Amino acid sequence: MIQGWREPDKTLPAHVADTFTTQDLEPFMARRDLPAPMASTRVLYMEERTGQEPDPCYLQEFDATILERGADFVILDQTLFYAEGGGQPDDHGVLRWPGGEAKVPRVTKEKGVVKHQVDRMPEADAIHGIVDWGRRYKHMRMHTSQHVMSGLVYRIYGARTAGNQIHSDVSRVDFQPANFTADDLKRIEAECNRVAEAGVDVRIFEEDRAVVHNKVEDRSLLDLIPQSIKRLRIIQVGDADYCPCGGTHLKNTREIGRVHILEKRSKGKETDRITYELLPP
Ligand SMILES: [Zn+2]
Repeated sequence: MIQGWREPDKTLPAHVADTFTTQDLEPFMARRDLPAPMASTRVLYMEERTGQEPDPCYLQEFDATILERGADFVILDQTLFYAEGGGQPDDHGVLRWPGGEAKVPRVTKEKGVVKHQVDRMPEADAIHGIVDWGRRYKHMRMHTSQHVMSGLVYRIYGARTAGNQIHSDVSRVDFQPANFTADDLKRIEAECNRVAEAGVDVRIFEEDRAVVHNKVEDRSLLDLIPQSIKRLRIIQVGDADYCPCGGTHLKNTREIGRVHILEKRSKGKETDRITYELLPP
């Protein structure tokens, strides 16, 4: 057991903790292609990255209106909170209204509707949301480093990412088919750190599905996205990675710091699990 390692939350469905499914692929779709019920919560960090300041993935506060109240959750018209899924934990934070504040300890998503769990029900419909930035930024560093590792391993070894789970301290990625040697691990670590040190800009943009299909080969599970979806949200990290994704990403790989691989473990079926942490540059 590695120090700091936490097993994935057992309350999560296995597919959320371990692999991408159609549900997890939903945020990869360009917003205009989403069926109406899936567009209920506008996710503000999903905007294309066009050099705007502040960048959508770095926004920490937002105003929103409560559309619906559950027993212990609210649905907002728009949000900056990341809902758990795709191997990334949810954002935490608070919702404020004049004279009150509710903590948000859990954020989930069902068919495009983001549910913000609250420890008390807001007394007004107009609220101001604040994301726990320390937690989110660690997840952004981990998630962006995972793109770099997944992209490089696919390019060098032809091994696809079969699953991943990031945390703020330690993360893991499952590669298949793979049987890495100690030298392979050294090379993967060195190549990741080469990209981190180079300070590569992370691009976020929408692209036609046909174009994406020609570029990604089988790096991602493109076939799981319904054929009706014609535009995809793409993350590109220089020549290290190009992949449809709906997550939160750093602006530049320099912010990753240094990738330090802790161990490799065989998970059978030609699957190797790499566990790593991030250190200061
Ligand atoms: Zn991503």
